[in-house]
Amino acid sequence: MKVIQVKCPNCEQPIYQKQRDNMFHCKNCGTIHYRDMKGSHTVEYEIADVNPNVRGRQYYIPFWRVYCHFNIRSRDVEGGYIHKLATKINGGDNGGMLYIFVPASDLEASTFRSMAVNLTVNNPRYNLRRDFSNVERMPTTLTPEEAAEMADFVAVTLEAEKPGKMQYLDYELKVQETKLVYLPFEQGPNGLQLAV
Ligand SMILES: [Zn+2]
Repeated sequence: MKVIQVKCPNCEQPIYQKQRDNMFHCKNCGTIHYRDMKGSHTVEYEIADVNPNVRGRQYYIPFWRVYCHFNIRSRDVEGGYIHKLATKINGGDNGGMLYIFVPASDLEASTFRSMAVNLTVNNPRYNLRRDFSNVERMPTTLTPEEAAEMADFVAVTLEAEKPGKMQYLDYELKVQETKLVYLPFEQGPNGLQLAV
């Protein structure tokens, strides 16, 4: 795999990294940035600590945690997830704030879907750590702009989780903040398990 070199926009140290990862992590100052046509952009991020009881092989998977305000304009979704979440968060059912977890790595469609749904419905709790230590991290392939668009898709997926009658939902999502969150996973017998 090709390794490329860029300069950290914060401390100007060279960063050497595999080409597939769009996020460049500076080991010197900890800054993560990505580059596009408009230049380099520093990214807000956090790294969740690995549960000390985890013994198997570990990976960090990046997620864009998209903090959204959603506003339900009209619906026929009693019992739907969005409705439930809205009620839980807000005590009302016309809208509220929601963290949507969008996997930022190239994953199989079914893995993408189950991770997005599980983490959005049950936001993970974790301690923070300062660096990746020596845990391998999966490359980030989604930009925050793409993640904001995917958040919409995740919201629709959540609604579609409930089998049975067709549900109708007219809503609007407004992205307030996007943060890159690295969550540790353990390779277990049944696939990847969250390891916070
Ligand atoms: Zn730096």
